[in-house]
Amino acid sequence: MKVLENYKDGFKRFLEIQEEMKNIGDAQGVLYWDMVTIMPPKGVERRSDVIGYLSQLMYKLETGEEYNSLVYSLHEHFEEMNDKEKAMIKAAKKSLDFMKKIPEEEYLEYSKLVASGETYWAQAREKNDYESFKPILEKIVFFNKKIAGYMGYEETPYDALLDLYEPGATVKELDNVFSELREGLLKLLNKINASDVKIDSSILKGEYSNEAQKKYNTELAKRLGYDFERGAIAESAHPFSTNFGNKDVRITTAYSKEDPIIAMYSTIHETGHAIYEQNIPDDITKTNIGGGVSMGIHESQSRYYENILGRDEKFVEAEYPNMVEAFEGLKEFAPVDVFRAINKVEPSLIRIDADELTYSLHIIIRYELEKMMINGEVSFDELPELWANKYEEYLGVRPETFAAGVLQDVHWSGGMIGYFPSYALGNLYGAQMLYKGILRDLPDYYDLIKEGKISEITKWLAENVHSHGGTYEPKVLIEKITGEPLNAKYFLQYLNEKYSKIYNLK
Ligand SMILES: [Zn+2]
Repeated sequence: MKVLENYKDGFKRFLEIQEEMKNIGDAQGVLYWDMVTIMPPKGVERRSDVIGYLSQLMYKLETGEEYNSLVYSLHEHFEEMNDKEKAMIKAAKKSLDFMKKIPEEEYLEYSKLVASGETYWAQAREKNDYESFKPILEKIVFFNKKIAGYMGYEETPYDALLDLYEPGATVKELDNVFSELREGLLKLLNKINASDVKIDSSILKGEYSNEAQKKYNTELAKRLGYDFERGAIAESAHPFSTNFGNKDVRITTAYSKEDPIIAMYSTIHETGHAIYEQNIPDDITKTNIGGGVSMGIHESQSRYYENILGRDEKFVEAEYPNMVEAFEGLKEFAPVDVFRAINKVEPSLIRIDADELTYSLHIIIRYELEKMMINGEVSFDELPELWANKYEEYLGVRPETFAAGVLQDVHWSGGMIGYFPSYALGNLYGAQMLYKGILRDLPDYYDLIKEGKISEITKWLAENVHSHGGTYEPKVLIEKITGEPLNAKYFLQYLNEKYSKIYNLK
């Protein structure tokens, strides 16, 4: 290792290589975007080759001697650095440690396994055939256990996996937060199930052309503060957002002919992710902290826009005239009926169709099962049965097929174990930011929503969340913003207040 006299010189070189890595990453991103939006189907083979080639270039650059030696030498100067520099070096070292600790052949074997995992999963789900996917899942879990071992952990292997998606999160912490959450959600769900109020959500359905939906969603994203000079919306089978720096941040959406509300809320969700990326400051956009800090904090933004803001009564009232202009069938119904229909609670089998309340229960089930798989506490033969039992216990519904049960999500097939908790964490972070940040600093919050001044709220999020990029770990960031560590109290308070009104709860 080279000893640096003055770390600033080394840091300059480090930033140059970071930019090279971003260049490759952005090129891959554009190719991927093109692939899932407009590429003709037969282009897939050639495209995979090109993306694969760029991955090799990236790997060479990152594992190259110069960059390695720089990162580890710079790490020696950690204490002299400012917060942003510290975060960059920490993230760079974490990524290098990851590559060094896992033996190359094992890493390659695992990469191949997860690259083909999705295809096997899709076939298995299509045929409702758990047996064909079981050996793949078993291997993926086996590798994840090994990865956890290589990475190291203090208490339990699952900690190491959580850390890949939500830096600093631990089972101990999540067990506490999620058990409070689970109890609170089940209590509220029981009350709602016993309520006399019945909501008809079929009023939201109607036949609307892609064109009409596209026009509406574009205007909607604008109203939320999405900057179209630095953004674009396209269509893809599964909606997502992607970005090439902070000045080209794109989203996709998928339109359902019979239900315009699906695309509407998926657009709001992806817009939330995109606004985060558009507000990353110029000085870090070409570095490894030039993006959202974690999956959980990213979801806190998309879910804030989608649910806390987007399903708020005042928001729906303000949006109503625009909605009826685009979707005229809604004219027959009052804004309050639309608001209630959008907020209907109904336990169901499929996570991605779940309402705002039961969604977190779907996540808790996956969290509990993932821990058991990693700890070897459940056999892969028993997994579907256990899945079904948990659905029956928490949600009162039982899947009759594997496709509607254990095979419904793509995540495990891509090796993502430890990722699901991010979604529930996003809900908790968002509500905590609302009560302990937004409402504190913007006392006229609900008037802003009523008057359509969403940009004021977006400005608050930009200053308090987005502008930091990946500078602070989620734990540090949430305390910085709200003055207290993450807890489930505020999300439960939020849901209780909202649904007590909608369902007339005592
Ligand atoms: Zn999301």
